[in-house]
Amino acid sequence: MKDIITEKNAISAGTLYLVATPIGNLSDISERALKTLSEVDFVAAEDTRNSRKLLSCFGISKPMISYFEHNKKARGEEIVARLSSGESCALVTDAGMPGISDPGEDIVRLCIENGIPVTLVPGPCAAVTALVLSGLPTAKFIFEGFLPQKASERDKRIEELSHETRTIVLYEAPHRLKSTLKSLGKGFGDDRKLSICRELTKINEEIFRTTIAQACDYYSENDPRGEYVLIVAGADETKSELSPALSDPVAEVKSLILDGIPKNEAIKQVARQLGVPKNTVYQQFINSTEDENGNAQ
Ligand code: SAM
Repeated sequence: MKDIITEKNAISAGTLYLVATPIGNLSDISERALKTLSEVDFVAAEDTRNSRKLLSCFGISKPMISYFEHNKKARGEEIVARLSSGESCALVTDAGMPGISDPGEDIVRLCIENGIPVTLVPGPCAAVTALVLSGLPTAKFIFEGFLPQKASERDKRIEELSHETRTIVLYEAPHRLKSTLKSLGKGFGDDRKLSICRELTKINEEIFRTTIAQACDYYSENDPRGEYVLIVAGADETKSELSPALSDPVAEVKSLILDGIPKNEAIKQVARQLGVPKNTVYQQFINSTEDENGNAQ
């Protein structure tokens, strides 16, 4: 066993080492990460200033080049050329696991295309840390990363996800948190459970296990601060598979209306039970009340 560990830890020439770094708590750096960073020929970093600080905390000084979103094409080719000539390189991104919502993904592809060995020194990842702490089902989940910034595209993506029964993992910037929560409410219904995971591994780590409606209320009075991962419960499978009463949502709306419930409220109730956006049920209801020429019946 010891021999295997020793062998794995040796730095090989011409290899790219993706190295996971802490997402807030310096003590989360691994022994293998430090060894790799000390022994490679050079480090490629998403933010060289941040990474120099990190390395200096551990007494490591290394030649460093930047590799980030806006120089990744040219810099990627440069890194590949150096690797091909036999140098070893450690790639670190701003925080956490390189390749998860950061340019690490592109350099891996480029190395594979050029036949360059790539390996990973695993470590912290905000998505997985949040998922486990959320208290929501972890057996099946999907990672969506950052939703589109443009409101219309974000709403469209959320609508596409409204029937998703797996737990949904989202990254979000603090200044967009409030509007994203509103969009989630519109698309998933206000009652959907979510866990808002803030400042993971840091002094102010906080997990707010709540519903979309309660989160909207809370953030209408409190400004979001720090880094966030949102873990949203999947649509309820039993409801997605439709209980007998809801196998025909339009009939259910009509029956509620006959019971004296106003049309909009009936649509809202059925949408909530189905775990789908109000608009979906509204459209079905309108279609059912129009004849083939599009006239209201
Ligand atoms: N590669 C990183 C990882 O492994 O998690 C993610 C990089 S992505 C550019 C940055 C986003 O990750 C942040 O906007 C935030 O959503 C999330 N994040 C990173 N660190 C976090 C932390 N300590 N607490 C909560 N979220 C965090």
